[in-house]
Amino acid sequence: MIIIKLLILSIKSISIRKFNLKLEKMTDIDILFIHPPRNFEHLVDNMKKRSSFLLMPMGLFSMADLLDRNGYNSKIVNYSLEKTLHPKFSILKFIKKDHPKVIGVDLHWVQHSAGALDLLKIIKRNFPSVFTLLGGFTASYYAKEIMQKYKFIDGIIQGEAELPIIELLNNIKHLEKVPNLIYRKNQKIYDNGINYILDDLDQLNFTNVDYLVHWKEYIKYINKVMHTPWPLEIARGCQFNCVNCGGSFHSCKIITRRNRVIFRSPERVVDDIRRLVEKTGYNGVFYGHGVYRATEKYFMKIHEKLRDEKIRIHSDLEIWRLPISDTFFRDYFKTYDVEESMIWFSVRSFSENYRKKFHTRFGELDKSFDFTNDDLNKLINKMDKYNIPLRLFWDVGNPFENKIDFLKNYLYALKLVFKNISKYKKLSMWSEPIIISPGCAIELKNETFGIQMTTKTFEDYVRLNRESEMKIAPLDVGVNFRTSTLSKATIDIFNKLMFFINLISVITV
Ligand code: SF4
Repeated sequence: MIIIKLLILSIKSISIRKFNLKLEKMTDIDILFIHPPRNFEHLVDNMKKRSSFLLMPMGLFSMADLLDRNGYNSKIVNYSLEKTLHPKFSILKFIKKDHPKVIGVDLHWVQHSAGALDLLKIIKRNFPSVFTLLGGFTASYYAKEIMQKYKFIDGIIQGEAELPIIELLNNIKHLEKVPNLIYRKNQKIYDNGINYILDDLDQLNFTNVDYLVHWKEYIKYINKVMHTPWPLEIARGCQFNCVNCGGSFHSCKIITRRNRVIFRSPERVVDDIRRLVEKTGYNGVFYGHGVYRATEKYFMKIHEKLRDEKIRIHSDLEIWRLPISDTFFRDYFKTYDVEESMIWFSVRSFSENYRKKFHTRFGELDKSFDFTNDDLNKLINKMDKYNIPLRLFWDVGNPFENKIDFLKNYLYALKLVFKNISKYKKLSMWSEPIIISPGCAIELKNETFGIQMTTKTFEDYVRLNRESEMKIAPLDVGVNFRTSTLSKATIDIFNKLMFFINLISVITV
């Protein structure tokens, strides 16, 4: 309630101040959000490939929309997309034209660390009076290190940013009033701490595409290049603790101070989907929260509304924990254009023995390995029954996984692919080399998991991102760790071997 009251008070005060600002200069924008490339070193080689990392955090759209409703204007520019569309694109010319007061670069995923830094460096050099801002999980986790090492960054919004971004524009001369901000003043760093956490997702809209320059092309390229429908935020936080995920329950508690998961109402989710379809003509979403027993009913309410309103779309959805009921899949099948949809499940390892070993050791923290091959086969059969494409994620380099575990993992995957090639054409597999992300359980407690990481600081991640070319990803991507049982080189070789199974499974569907 206090946050809502603060928000209402700030809305009232903004409108007066905003009116004065508009009188000063009608063409300026208040804030320009730029989605950075992964890095500048290999940008040209990565164009039109998955490694261009075109995908943007879902919250950029809701923040631009919220700012608008609070009297501030903003734009979003996706740097890699602009370069893809116009190789001569100059961000400096773009900024000169729009003259923003604040430039915010998202640094959510650590893969963007080099690109985000280089972008803000060049911006600060050319526009010293613009307030340079970072935000997102990675920026929040490494906020102090980033502020100390990179003087061209004026501030970082740590944790969740909805109210802080409005307060930043309200109080650009009184930064001490901005929640969650760490900032630089007279060459000193001040930290306001993290005291804001969003408590109501229903006030946000995630499909107002107009704020993004070239949104039509964005939709086209995330489909074509990233193979992703429109990502839609439906909840915030996660109740699970996958040990190498920086968005887990424990990680969120550390990075954003969030200690509970909040959901949007099914009505508001459907509002967003309706708006997306009507505005863009595009009819696919990737739900930003997975299905597990506790969310089945929630999704089924969304489905019911979609059917009532005769909104026919396709959807990508992750299973976050098995088992999922037959009732749910029947409902999914009735609602979506399943030919175009996909269900994803992270098996991690097909070796039942390894999963038992992991679960015995770490099951208290992370129950994601708590299923049998029988459970997995039941899932495959259900997908077969409803004709829904299923993609299984697997990986290598998990804690205490040895060469025998890998061999069993590999042979089972091979068996599954060949068994299903003839019978069930919609089963495919994918794997990516694991990059242990900031703030996850393994990164926080390396020794417990028998892992030695090659990236310890933010600077290490920046170096890693500059060095990795990703010309033929994932074949030329190395992991950032070794385990007590597998060297880094061995894990890298195993990842390459897995790629061939992935390839066979994908080209045969
Ligand atoms: S990977 Fe695991 S911890 Fe991370 S968001 Fe998904 S289910 Fe939650």
